[in-house]
Amino acid sequence: MKMIDGRAVAEELKNVLKQQVQEYEKNSGRVPHLAAILVGNHPASQAYVGNKVRACEQVGFRSTLIRLPETVSEEELLLEIEKLNADPEVDGFIVQLPLPAHISEVNVTLQIDYRKDVDGFHPVNFGRMAQGLPCFLPATPYGITMLLDRYHISTGGKHVVVLGRSNIVGTPISLLLSRKGMDATVTLTHSRTKNLDEYLSKADILIVAIGIPNFVNERMVKEGAVVIDVGINRVPDPKDDQKSILVGDVDYHEVKDKCSYITPVPGGVGPMTVMGLLMNTFKAATRQIYP
Ligand code: NAD
Repeated sequence: MKMIDGRAVAEELKNVLKQQVQEYEKNSGRVPHLAAILVGNHPASQAYVGNKVRACEQVGFRSTLIRLPETVSEEELLLEIEKLNADPEVDGFIVQLPLPAHISEVNVTLQIDYRKDVDGFHPVNFGRMAQGLPCFLPATPYGITMLLDRYHISTGGKHVVVLGRSNIVGTPISLLLSRKGMDATVTLTHSRTKNLDEYLSKADILIVAIGIPNFVNERMVKEGAVVIDVGINRVPDPKDDQKSILVGDVDYHEVKDKCSYITPVPGGVGPMTVMGLLMNTFKAATRQIYP
């Protein structure tokens, strides 16, 4: 088994990007600018946004964090989004999910100017991705493709099984990998799939994003498979009940000796999602997608 070190790959890619940012600054007199809106005090969301802001600093981007209270109305949030859409100083921005229950994630996503949608969630970017047109790829699927590429894991002709059909991970990664160029044969499985184990155990590459700690066990994985674990779950630390730890959707210790490659949690897909966001922001600043 070989561990796929997302943290190390992200660091390498950040160093390359940092140089590109310096070059861009020399030529244009400005640096890429990412803004993030964070609603409420959700601890995991605060941590994710904190990582994104730190990553911006590392590569030389400007970043702006806009914090809004949990009680903010949908209308007020949509107005903040309008301001960012209209601000020529902001190249791209994200609204950190999840949002409080009284705010519609669909309305929020639709309000974002697709030319600044560096999370790649807007239906224009999603549709363009599905048709193989230039677009901001959703950050996590983009990060996964960069990881596969870095480890020379080809997808052409492979059977990829995706577990979980969310709009931000499962559905877009299954579309992306089945496109020309990636050329995988993809099976998308979810909570209503019958005989789930049968599908999972046939995967050459298994991508798991369901949000259930240690769900995938050794029996569900084919010998020699590549396992990409997207899940991030906080659970009580078995060694110290006062503490908690992060685990994935895959039981890493059970599965690791059966597969050829596996991503750990933390330190696998997570850092590459941030990398996807940085790459999209650089593309937005340099008008690579929408001239
Ligand atoms: P989600 O929570 O929106 O949806 C879960 C999906 O899993 C659904 O499609 C559902 O059909 C499927 N599912 C649920 N229970 C199932 C079961 N018992 N059997 C089969 N399928 C089942 O998904 P999400 O937003 O993609 O998040 C999934 C996990 O990935 C979470 O742990 C989340 O924190 C994590 N995540 C990590 C990153 C990262 O950067 N590493 C990014 C996004 C999400």
